[in-house]
Amino acid sequence: METLQQRMKIIEEEIQAACTRSGRKRQDITVIAVTKQVSAKRAQEVIEIGITDLGENRPEGILNKQKDISLDTINYHFIGNVQSRKVKDFINKVGFLHSLDRINIAKEIQKRATAPVECFIQVNVSGEESKSGLHPEEVEGFIQELAEIDKIRVIGLMTMAPFTQDEELIRSVFRSLRVLRDQISALNLENAPCTQLSMGMSNDYTIAIEEGATHVRIGTALVGTESEGDE
Ligand SMILES: *Cc1c(COP(=O)(O)O)cnc(C)c1O
Repeated sequence: METLQQRMKIIEEEIQAACTRSGRKRQDITVIAVTKQVSAKRAQEVIEIGITDLGENRPEGILNKQKDISLDTINYHFIGNVQSRKVKDFINKVGFLHSLDRINIAKEIQKRATAPVECFIQVNVSGEESKSGLHPEEVEGFIQELAEIDKIRVIGLMTMAPFTQDEELIRSVFRSLRVLRDQISALNLENAPCTQLSMGMSNDYTIAIEEGATHVRIGTALVGTESEGDE
């Protein structure tokens, strides 16, 4: 079993190669280590190898990691489904929310956040029933509804690719999100600069980078799962 450093080295090489293939700069891509399946100790180890961004999908995960890991130097990203009654538990503990897709959540953020939250709108590009997120044609209207909510800044769009081996299908989903991002950012909306793209996970982050991802969310390929007991 590889060490964390070895895994990071492999991922870094893959990212560099994807950047080279697509004529992009490495510094335009943020790697979010998704630590939802591992302990705070493991998260600390990830930080020690130079990761500055952690992703969690439950408020409990954020609180658990923050007991040990100082907030000052780390960017926390909330990437999971949000429940309205839980917003108050985590919203002032994260810098970024990747999964905004409902106006009632936005209103709860408006009430509870002490400072503007950088948000990605989650989009269900593939149209699978099981996935959260807005349908692409709903995104612009939703962002307009957010105009009065000054605690939300729409910095970009987020999606999850379908669970499939079909790389062309995955690629087409990422490409559609990029096209939509370009359409929204061209509107020059004050509340929605919408320049960022959160897409790509352990299995598809290189495709996502080739298609323009600015934030990749990598869990198992980097931190593993706690049950592996490696190192
Ligand atoms: C768990 C999760 C990830 C990371 O998934 P891996 O396949 O382990 O890399 C990324 N994004 C979201 C929204 C997740 O819930």
